[in-house]
Amino acid sequence: MLPSNTNYLLAVEGLTVSFDGFKAVDDLSFYVDNDEIRVIIGPNGAGKTTVLDLICGRTKATAGSVRFKGKELLSLREDQIVHAGVGRKFQNPSIYEDLTVFENLELSYPSGYTVFGALAFKRSAAVAERIEEIAETIFLADLLDTKAAILSHGQKQWLEIGMLLIQDPELLMLDEPVAGMSVAERRKTAELLHGIIENRSVLVIEHDMNFVADIAHKVTVLHQGRILSEGSMETVQADPRVVEVYLGH
Ligand code: ADP
Ligand code: MG
Repeated sequence: MLPSNTNYLLAVEGLTVSFDGFKAVDDLSFYVDNDEIRVIIGPNGAGKTTVLDLICGRTKATAGSVRFKGKELLSLREDQIVHAGVGRKFQNPSIYEDLTVFENLELSYPSGYTVFGALAFKRSAAVAERIEEIAETIFLADLLDTKAAILSHGQKQWLEIGMLLIQDPELLMLDEPVAGMSVAERRKTAELLHGIIENRSVLVIEHDMNFVADIAHKVTVLHQGRILSEGSMETVQADPRVVEVYLGH
């Protein structure tokens, strides 16, 4: 057994989940550094989404360990994991269509913030400033008063990323963020991710290999719940096992 290393932002070790005897994730270990963009790729059914479900506490692990900044997450509830600094975006955007971009971001501002008394004005000014800053990052600064319903598909995805960013997670997990986006939107999303990784790491599941090449510091290839290959984009692309089960198709 390898010695546990607490210098990683995220250390996943021996992670396993069994659904009625079927191991969707099977003794999986990987480590994510600070300020790293890690991409998980692999064929459909490989267990990618399940890995994110396990890390964010939506699915309970059968065995293993997930340490975030040295702290075990597997014994925590979903809301405690969010509070610890892990944000998760699901495949379908969960924004409020009837609200504006500004209101969507405002609603996502970390709870514990209450408006009352003499502080109210100061507080809401600080919140507005933070919302404007996030809107700039997600390319929606000019659309703050626009109803979310009329945003493009890509803009809705960015808004949801913004709704996570406003909580300032140290680990941001995104499941297929560029699915359905135009080529231009994919490029801007890559730019967005590069812009947010100071003091933060991002764990992304993606199929678009051009996008993966644009963003990944390191790629983990998952197959049947296990790691098939791991390393730089060049390394995994040249790995014959990866070509056989995934890239060759
Ligand atoms: P990927 O995201 O790589 O396409 P998933 O993580 O969604 O794969 O699924 C991995 C495997 O686990 C699939 O065979 C899927 O059917 C199965 N699976 C996922 N979640 C559950 C669950 N809650 N109950 C039973 N089987 C599941
Ligand atoms: Mg999936």
